[in-house]
Amino acid sequence: MKLTKPDYFDRFHCLAGGCPDSCCQEWEVQVDPDSASRYRKLPGPLGNDLRRVLRDEDGETYITISDGRCPMWRLDGLCRIQAELGEAALCKTCREFPRLTHDYGDFVELGLELSCPEAARLILNESAGYITETVPGIGAAEYDRDAMEVLKSTRVKALELLKDSSRTVGQTLALLLLYGCQAQGELDGAESVPFDMAAALETARELAQPGDIGEIISFFQSLEILTDGWDTRLRSPAPSDWDRRTLALARYFVNRYWLQAVSDYDLYSRVKFLVIACLLLRTLGGDFVETAQLFSKEIENDADNMDALLDAAYEHPAFTDAKLLGMLL
Ligand code: SF4
Repeated sequence: MKLTKPDYFDRFHCLAGGCPDSCCQEWEVQVDPDSASRYRKLPGPLGNDLRRVLRDEDGETYITISDGRCPMWRLDGLCRIQAELGEAALCKTCREFPRLTHDYGDFVELGLELSCPEAARLILNESAGYITETVPGIGAAEYDRDAMEVLKSTRVKALELLKDSSRTVGQTLALLLLYGCQAQGELDGAESVPFDMAAALETARELAQPGDIGEIISFFQSLEILTDGWDTRLRSPAPSDWDRRTLALARYFVNRYWLQAVSDYDLYSRVKFLVIACLLLRTLGGDFVETAQLFSKEIENDADNMDALLDAAYEHPAFTDAKLLGMLL
């Protein structure tokens, strides 16, 4: 079976006590059923404390945070479960974070989550290459093969487009938006045709209308906000020029989300999502890696926020193609 991962994947090391924004704060950790069952049966003080903080909601189990942090996070920065029972006793979320696995049955893709500061540094500061290796195991394809073929080939083209340094960041993202539209057409059954960048840029300029970044910020303020830091950023944006690392951010989104459209045939809202994210980051300003990491923590790691943004990409008047192009160009 083929396994693909970014070349920095195996270089990731958790910063532990040195982490500037630990994953043990502000998040409610979702606990997998096996770990929840084990924690509930544990004897002694640790078992008593875990039973007190485990909470069931909508068929899932969570560790309830208190004072903005996981109650299992010790003052010395270590996890109490790991310290007392060993790493194997951690629930799946904590054991794997920030590693991502996309298992499509007959091939697997790995990645890191941008919401971890150390992963964000690797994702945004390196021109990542990808490694494909053969690993033991033969799985069956769990997807529509024709759709996956289109998604794989269009993703290659989208990534090539993002590597072209001959245009401004805004122009590149405008082209990506239009290419996403074309790729959605191919996914819907249209014939594959070459993407003429010069013509597409001309079309983008013709379509562009003034957008209002204030409307975008208002939309994000209407979502669930986890941290005071994000609330402050949204209240006091410090717009900056495009940071070239925005293209590394866009490549991360393309690698992470493009193939996921095989599940619902909706590629275009994912492309719009990444364009909106890049526009928001430029508007918020500040340290680029920090802002991107915070965005990911608030939006990518919150299923409700992600769903709301993907829906809004189609429906919200601030996110029409014309307005997005207007803000990009
Ligand atoms: S956010 Fe990343 S670096 Fe920080 S504690 Fe969690 S896994 Fe480690």
